[in-house]
Amino acid sequence: MKVILYNESAAEELNIEEIARYLRQKLGKAKIEVRGSPFVSSLTQDSILDFARKIASAKIQEVNQKIPSEQEPLHGEIEYEKRRILGKTRAFGVLYDGFRLRRIFGEVIPGEELSLEFVHIILTNRLLVTWDNSNQRYHLRASIYSIPSVVSTTGLIEAPAKPREYYLLKQQYERLGKDLSELKESFRGSFIDYEDKRLSEVVKGYAMQAVFYSLTGDPFCEDKGCRLYNAHWQEELIFAQLESGYEFCQRHTRLLRKAQASHR
Ligand SMILES: [Zn+2]
Repeated sequence: MKVILYNESAAEELNIEEIARYLRQKLGKAKIEVRGSPFVSSLTQDSILDFARKIASAKIQEVNQKIPSEQEPLHGEIEYEKRRILGKTRAFGVLYDGFRLRRIFGEVIPGEELSLEFVHIILTNRLLVTWDNSNQRYHLRASIYSIPSVVSTTGLIEAPAKPREYYLLKQQYERLGKDLSELKESFRGSFIDYEDKRLSEVVKGYAMQAVFYSLTGDPFCEDKGCRLYNAHWQEELIFAQLESGYEFCQRHTRLLRKAQASHR
């Protein structure tokens, strides 16, 4: 097995080398490689423009309006994406259709590396959403597991819900025009925030979810204390990744040991 971590403008506080070291330690003989943006290897003027257009057309304008399969982006949007691909901006806040973005990332991965031997994990600060048919709107996602898998560092902050009281108080603060940093201070520690020192530790668990997706087809676990728990709340995320007192449940510890023994 070979795990490749790509840094597609992931949050600056993310220590990717530390995540690579962690994977080496957990996966025994597997090779772990860290790469920069997946677009860098195939950069010609034409391909930059092509990818910029594709990425721009995966952009979501309205969360309750499904984007058409073909949408022609504006010139400015394409220019913005060009700057992002070239690393000239790290801006975030734009929403992208996660499944389309994953497909675009998949196109830049060399064909010979698209086998089951490889686990590709794109770490990005782009915000991903996926369409939910049941309530007809897009929802934020922290990660999407597929070939390649995508883990969003901003998604880890924005997708799992914060405590309910936080949202109630936030409305009050906004109504009164009060400074939100004061509110965040009073909830300190109860959710992962921007520039959070715990981010790298949390992403280790999400990288392992991508690894388990590749090993077993299932990235998740029902055990709330296991790093493979699919957290919908920040409290659940923090418990599973940082506070439960163990990393993996017994079943996943066993599966991991088995995988270490059988590494090609
Ligand atoms: Zn588990």
